[in-house]
Amino acid sequence: MFDSLAEKLQATLADVRGRGTLTEDDVNAAMREIRLALLEADVNFKVVKRFTNAVKERALGSDVIGQLNPGQQVVKIVNDELSALMGGESEELKFSSSPPTVILMAGLQGSGKTTATAKLARYLREQHRSSVAVAACDVYRPAAVDQLVTVGGQAGADVYERGTDADPVAIAKWALDRASREGKDVLIIDTAGRLHVDENLMTELAEIKRATSPTDILLVVDAMTGQDAVNVAEQFAEVVQFDGVVMSKLDGDARGGAALSVKSVTGKPILFASTGEKLDQFERFHPDRMAQRILG
Ligand code: GDP
Repeated sequence: MFDSLAEKLQATLADVRGRGTLTEDDVNAAMREIRLALLEADVNFKVVKRFTNAVKERALGSDVIGQLNPGQQVVKIVNDELSALMGGESEELKFSSSPPTVILMAGLQGSGKTTATAKLARYLREQHRSSVAVAACDVYRPAAVDQLVTVGGQAGADVYERGTDADPVAIAKWALDRASREGKDVLIIDTAGRLHVDENLMTELAEIKRATSPTDILLVVDAMTGQDAVNVAEQFAEVVQFDGVVMSKLDGDARGGAALSVKSVTGKPILFASTGEKLDQFERFHPDRMAQRILG
């Protein structure tokens, strides 16, 4: 995860860390290296600029220069700012006080939504001891319903499906009634994606939202698409008030840009990271731990 970015940042900071003294020129040179590494990792350029300015301001303004171990202080500042960039505190899902908690999964086709639906079901069963049902409302993508039956079943969730002929809004309503009747703690609704953000997709999401009043709306974005993932999240944010992001495919040679930019660009936190095709390759996203992982 983030291998090339981590390598470059670590090399730059190792250089800084080792210095007994540090001049303003040294800080400027390090910021140039960091800026390049972030841009190469596909981090949004405005985000990069804000980030390096923030680090520089603190590094030059807080009497770091001339202090004992100035390099280490700069490394700490980079670490803090990187964590803040990704949201700082890790955020939680909301749970409804009158179950079922309804979680609506949104995202483009291929983003990893159906996989994330099953992974989240498994996670909630294991970590929160919740009884979970998943609803198959992606009636457009061939085999999406069958896929959810398989992976949802593997995750130990009840899979509510009515094939591909029914209307997704009707399925969502029916699934909510059934989850209430069957006393489920959580209902996760897998919705249909599209190749691009378009009006049909947004209308359908809005209707499912109206019909089920979700407790949380999660947007699944594919980290491998880099800057595009952030653009997609920005487009969704304009129309659907989602609560948080599931960043999928962070295991690939993801260059990190999406994970680093999405909070800053959309204002929405990353709640979960999906790091492989297997159901257990799914974890809470902690900005501080992620920053440490990147900086080594
Ligand atoms: P959907 O169209 O959004 O429902 O996408 P799917 O859940 O079907 O995922 C699309 C493809 O990406 C499938 O082949 C998944 O196995 C794969 N996939 C999903 N999440 C991950 C992940 O975190 N890492 C990797 N490497 N592949 C993933």
